[in-house]
Amino acid sequence: MNFGYSEECLAHDTGERHPENPDRLRAIREGLARKHGVEYVDGDAATADCVKAVHDGDYVAEFRDFCESGGGNWDPDTVAVRATWEAALQSAGLACWAADAALDGENGRNTPFSLGRPPGHHALEDDAMGFCFFNNVAVAARHAIEDRDAECVAVFDWDVHHGNGTQDIFYEAGDVFYASLHEEGLYPGTGEIEETGEGAGDGTTLNVPLPAGAGDPDYRDTFDELIRPAFEAFDPDLLLISAGFDAHRHDPISRMRVSTEGYGMLTDRVRDLADEMGAALAFVLEGGYGLDTLSSSVAEVHEIFDGKTPLTPDEEADEDVTELIEEIRGSHPALGG
Ligand code: ZN
Repeated sequence: MNFGYSEECLAHDTGERHPENPDRLRAIREGLARKHGVEYVDGDAATADCVKAVHDGDYVAEFRDFCESGGGNWDPDTVAVRATWEAALQSAGLACWAADAALDGENGRNTPFSLGRPPGHHALEDDAMGFCFFNNVAVAARHAIEDRDAECVAVFDWDVHHGNGTQDIFYEAGDVFYASLHEEGLYPGTGEIEETGEGAGDGTTLNVPLPAGAGDPDYRDTFDELIRPAFEAFDPDLLLISAGFDAHRHDPISRMRVSTEGYGMLTDRVRDLADEMGAALAFVLEGGYGLDTLSSSVAEVHEIFDGKTPLTPDEEADEDVTELIEEIRGSHPALGG
């Protein structure tokens, strides 16, 4: 794969005991150092105008001033230093690079994956939260539609947390479909089945709040039976993956049971779906807080594009998950419910 990476994202220093710290990117790079076919690309930082396509101008100015005066705790979880402003612009810029590269036709072994931090999917139009300042994937989706030739974009968020920010930003938008698999009841507590979009965006939000303990077979069936048909009907020009790796069975902050190979299985499925829809495909890093599991999972995504055969689990999904799938299939407007 082609990985978007910038040293500036390391300068966003959240302190020694913060789970979202620069060692995450260092661990990913160490894991990739031993792999074949890894390329790094240094994308340009986003401009303030570019992030203002999804963020409120007053919020952007307030965040810049906060960093310029040395930073601190924006909220108990969300920490900034002076360099966070540049890192956040760089992280959003890398997501735009990934969208651009995909729309320019980079695919297969050259599929783009932006390794930016801070992450983005909790960031709201007018507020930072959950370690996120700019909503990188949302900035990239809007950029693809406004500055490029994409008519519509689908975002598939497999991070273990619900991407409340991405959902909110596009809740009334008919040209961006947001779909999330997340652990029910986990931070930030949003992402109910009933949240399906409003107005022009009616039916373009799809939430699957999976029970704690869900693993590879559950993710497989949820993808095949909900995400795939919803995206096929929407027929996007670009598929962006909000790729967090905190649903891994050894991640310290969730109770999910996805394996490293499970991320390979999902990668193979999104690649197959993008091919079938004729959509460009790009990955944008979100969470993932076990350094070993983050590094091995990103390497697994890479290896699938480098020719590795994915392992598909042969166990059946949990009964609770099968019932949840039926319930969503019967009620979601994008699935004929
Ligand atoms: Zn997360």
